[in-house]
Formats: sequence, C-alpha cells, structure tokens
Amino acid sequence: MAILCLGFGLSVLGIFNYLTSRQATETARRETARGAAVLSGSLQNRTRVFRSVASQIASSPKVTYLAMTDAQTIKDQIEKGLVSQFGGTDAFVITDLNGSVVGEYGFTTPTSASADTGISNVIKSQRPWSGVVVRDGDMMIEASYPVFFDRFFKGTVTTYLRFGEQLAREISELSELKVMFAKDGVMTRGSLPGTGLRVGSLTEPWPLTIGKDEYVAQYRPLPGTDAGAHEGFVVLRSTAELMAPAKQFSLAFLSALGVVCLLALVGGTLFSQRIGRGLDDVVRAARMLQAGGWPDRFQVRRTDEIGLVQATFNDMTESMRRSQERLLAMLDVDPLTELDNHRHFKESLPTEAARTAAAGESLALLLLDIDNFSEYNREKGHAEGDRKLKEIAAVLREARPEFASVARYGGEEFAILLPGYSVQDAGVLYKLIAGSVKGVTLSGGCAELVSARGQTEGLIVAAQLALERAKQLGRHRLCEFGEVPGAGGDDPKQLYRYLHDGTYATVKALAAAVDAKDPYTHGHSDRVAGFASDLAAYVGADPTEVDLIHRCGTLHDVGKIGVPDAILQKPGRLDPDEVRTMQAHAVLGEFIVAKIPQLAELLPGVRHHHERFDGGGYPDGIGGYDIPRIARFLAVADTYDAMTSDRPYRRGMPPEVALEEIERGAGTQFDPDLALAFVQMMRARTSHVLT
Ligand code: GH3
Ligand code: MG
Ligand code: MG
Repeated sequence: MAILCLGFGLSVLGIFNYLTSRQATETARRETARGAAVLSGSLQNRTRVFRSVASQIASSPKVTYLAMTDAQTIKDQIEKGLVSQFGGTDAFVITDLNGSVVGEYGFTTPTSASADTGISNVIKSQRPWSGVVVRDGDMMIEASYPVFFDRFFKGTVTTYLRFGEQLAREISELSELKVMFAKDGVMTRGSLPGTGLRVGSLTEPWPLTIGKDEYVAQYRPLPGTDAGAHEGFVVLRSTAELMAPAKQFSLAFLSALGVVCLLALVGGTLFSQRIGRGLDDVVRAARMLQAGGWPDRFQVRRTDEIGLVQATFNDMTESMRRSQERLLAMLDVDPLTELDNHRHFKESLPTEAARTAAAGESLALLLLDIDNFSEYNREKGHAEGDRKLKEIAAVLREARPEFASVARYGGEEFAILLPGYSVQDAGVLYKLIAGSVKGVTLSGGCAELVSARGQTEGLIVAAQLALERAKQLGRHRLCEFGEVPGAGGDDPKQLYRYLHDGTYATVKALAAAVDAKDPYTHGHSDRVAGFASDLAAYVGADPTEVDLIHRCGTLHDVGKIGVPDAILQKPGRLDPDEVRTMQAHAVLGEFIVAKIPQLAELLPGVRHHHERFDGGGYPDGIGGYDIPRIARFLAVADTYDAMTSDRPYRRGMPPEVALEEIERGAGTQFDPDLALAFVQMMRARTSHVLT
C-alpha cells in the first residue's frame, strides 16, 4: 500500500517536473527570441544616437579649431571638455590630415591611424565612416568624421563606443534578460562572466551553463552588420529563475507524500481487512492525477484512517493545483492557448511603447473578440469552446508578424501588439485572420499610439472603444478608434473626421458635443475656459499663455466622449468601478487631443487638470509645481464651475460659498497662489457688480 502510494506520488512528481521544466525552457526560448528582437532594436537606437553625437562633435567649432592647434592643447581639451560634454563615448582620437595622432583618450595602446580602419578610410575619402571594429581586444562601434575648416580638409575626429558590460547593462535594463557580445562565434564581454564561451548556434536558441546557472541563449548579428558569426550579441534568460517556484512546489509535494505514505503504512497493517474498499477511490484518483487530470475532491465521511488518507489526498491535490496555477501565471503563458497571458501583455506594453517611440516607429494595438461565444458554448459544449479557442490561437500565431506579440487578453478576447504598424496595416492583418477562422466570427478594434509618453492606458481604452463600436455595428467587422461616434450622434464617421481634420475648431466642436452629452453641465467647458484665462490675465500671464489656457479650458473634458452616458448622467454617487471609468477621461482626452499635432501644447493641461497640489489627484498623482502650470489654472476654474453649477440632484452653491471652499483648498487641492488670486479676482468682480 505504502509502496503504491510512494510509486504514484513519485511518478506524478516526475511528470510534473518534466512538464514544468519543459514549460520553463519553452518560456525562456520565447522570451529570448522576442528579447533578441527588442534588444536589437534598442542597440540600433544606441548606435544611431552615438553616430549623431559623433558627427556633432566633428562639426563643433571647438574641434575645428583643435585640428589646427598643438598636440598638448588638444589633449587637454579632450580630457577636460569634450569627453564630458559629449557623454556616451568610451574613446576619442583626433588626427591631422596626414593621420598623425594629435590627441587621444580612452585606449591603453596608442592609436596608429594606418591600422585604424575608420581613420585611414576618412583620410583617403574625406567622408564619414562608421562600423564595428576590434580595439584592445574589445568590439567597438567606431564613427570617424573628417574635419573641415574653410572647406579645407584639416584632419579627422573619431569616437568609439565599447560593446562592454556598461552597454550590455544599459540595453537590457528593462528586462530580466542578460546580454553578452560575441565576435567570430566567441562571447567577448557583457553582463555575465561568460567571456570566451562559444556561441552554440547562430539561428536557434540553445541551453548554456555559466558557472552554476543555466540559461537559454539566442544569438543575433549586430544591427547593421551581415548576418553570420562575425559580430553579434547573445541574449540569455535564466531557466533556474523560471523554475524556482516549481522547486518549491516539489518540496511541498514530497512532504505531503510522506504523510500519506506513513498513514497508509499504519492503516495497512492495522486494518488490512477494511482498507481495500476505501482505497479503491484513492487509487483511481491517483491514476487520474498521473494521467494529468484533476480528480474531484473526496467527500470525507469516514473518521478512520481511510478518511484521513482521503482528506490528506484532498489537501495535497488542492495545493498542487494552486501551485501549478501560480506557476503558470508566473510563466507568463496562458495554459489553454499557450499565448502570452493578460498580465504579461500589460507588463510588456509600456516597454514596447517606449522602445517604438524611441525608434520613431508607430505602434498599433488590435483587439479581437469572438462573436456570440456564449451561444457557441451553449450549443456545442464548453470543451468544444476550448478547442475553438486553441484553434484561433494557432491562427493568430501563424499570422503574427515577426516582432508582434499575441496575448489572450480575456476569456475569448485576444490582443495583438504591432510595432511598426498603422491602423491601416492592422486592418489588413484583421482581414487575414478573420478569413482563416472557421465556425465563429471575430470582431476587432484597433488603435494606434500617438506618442509614447504615458499613453499606453489610452491605447487600450481606444482599442476597446473601437471594439465596442464594431459590436454595435453588427459584429464580424473591424472598427478603428476613429470610427467611435462622437459629435453628431448618428454619423459614426464624425469623430473620425474631427480627429483627422487637424484643426482646433473641430476639436472644439467635439468638446461642445461632450457638453451636450451631459445637459446639466451645459456650457461647462466654455465657462472653465473663461474663468481660467481670466485668472491667467489677472496674475499677469502674457497673452500667448492666456490664449493657450483658454483653448485648453475649452478642450479639457473632451475625453468624456468615452465615458458612458449612464455614468456621466448618473444622479447619485458612483461606485468604485464607475469612478475609475470616469477618471479615465483625463487620459483619454490626452489621447484624443494628441491626434492633432498642432495641439501638442495643450496635452499637459488635458491630462493633468484633475491632479491635486498635495499629490492626491489623478491620473498620475503628481503634486506641487510638478503639475504643469496650465493644469493648475484649469483645476481652480474647473472646480469652481462644478461647484456653482446646478445638478439634477442639487442646486449649485452660491458663488461666495464656493469661493470659501477654494480658499480652503489653497495649498492642498490647488496651487496656493492661483487659488487665492482667483478668490480675490472673483470677489473684486462681485463687489464691482454690487457697487
Ligand atoms: P459578444 O459577441 O458580445 O462578444 O458576445 P459573447 O457571448 O462572445 O460575449 P460575452 O462577453 O457575453 O461572453 C463571453 C463568453 O466567452 C462567456 C464564456 O462562455 C466564453 N468563454 C470565456 N472564456 C472561455 C474559456 O476559457 N473557454 C470557453 N469554452 N469559453 C469561454
Ligand atoms: Mg468578450
Ligand atoms: Mg465575445
């Protein structure tokens, strides 16, 4: 009996360990493959920035002057000024027009122009050169530029960036990945002590041990170099880290198993007669576990040892199941579809947004939701539903462009993040996917990130609104954010036009439409614009700023177009979910206004008009003078107008009461100077009216 228990227990553990280590390796492979693409992008960026700094240095008047002066002055100048002025270069060489080095910094062995590919090239051609070289045993990017004075070639200036620990750390900063640089199939330097190790494969991920740690590694050629073994880098992900929770689980499982065996042993000797029957069920359940299923819990009615075995078995399977769930969640993979899970998607979005923004690439998000899937489940059964989800996941994997990531965003909802894609490109992809999925139809919503600063929430909201619109229009179609209806009610193209006309007047019309959505605050935006700009003039702001504040006041609530009427017009208190939806209007507003490049200067006001001076506001909880000035004006004006306007369930406060409230909020809710100035200004007005 005990042997049976031990036997099945160990085999379950064995299978579990095998599966989780396979899962961990698979996750590590996926992460490194994706990481390699991402890091390649960021390395490319670094190279680009580096080159532009180098060309800046070459054309700076200081350097032009240097090329004509004596060696000692040059050396001093390089060490004192230039290197710190242009950070991010590891070494620096200046030569005259014949290639004699007149000053250098950063190398242990002196530079010889004839042995330096970049310098000798520039002297020959008098044109810039850049590429990857090896100096002092390190791989480096070299950027070499000719120096001209009065159109005469005077010499060269060359900067070098080392592919070393520092750069490896910088480019892998945002992830749990490690980076090693590699030259001719051998790792040179990087964030791990792996110098001298050979690259296992130029194309496929391979397992690698460094010291006591195990990794999955993936090689990539350096951006801008030929594919192949010459210059590249290796991205590594520790499998041990991924496996840690599984190890913990195994330990817990082993101790539970010990208890069960002990009980079985005692029970077996004392009650060999009665054991047989009760144990049949336990054995059946054990077989099921072994086959990878989850047995039902035992209804424990017996009070003898069998009952104890059953209860312990219940606890054991329960804790196994919980650990496995935790483990799978940590592995970033959705167990059913093996796509990225929701959490992983949410976590990687900001990183991806920052990366694409830095690279000047666009970023589109495509959300897909299965139409009437509850019905499908009802008719064909949940198991068939699951099968369909897997089938769709396979279609998505197949259709996925190289750098895109695909996640199971919700139960029957998928998200595809598309770097370098516009909404139009996403539309093409939608057609391809929708055409390949059989048996059910998909609705899609897509949106494009406008600028990366803190707007990734906006991107999701926008895609969700678009998806909702696609459902409203009858499903089995794609809508982009621009098709979400705004002003004009019936015409779904209206908002699209507003957003693409690119003028202030159109957004103003949109803001008016928002006001119209909520009849009780009718005219609110115009009044806020008035109060805020009057206040600006009152405190002596220049006319340009007064005008800016007026325009921003008009638009500040435009994000409310995305807040459902039911919430906007709800008479009573909002519940926490509704509050969150309501608060999203600040970010959504920024997202909408950002569509119009000419209105960029209004963005801070729209995003931050609900921040509080004491840091307790939203969306970012920033405080004091970190809140953009324009938003501090709006906060006072917005609150005053909200307090003095009538609502369906209450009359507006008398102006004087509202002003006292503003006075009390000086320094906590509001910028103290602006709040007091506003109160003063408004009181002066009333007294003027009275006299
Ligand atoms: P709509 O066209 O408006 O999207 O209708 P719908 O029925 O697809 O949407 P709804 O959000 O009302 O319901 C989603 C359904 O998706 C509920 C559930 O039956 C199904 N679903 C969610 N997750 C799973 C899953 O893991 N497996 C299966 N089989 N069905 C799931
Ligand atoms: Mg859904
Ligand atoms: Mg659905």
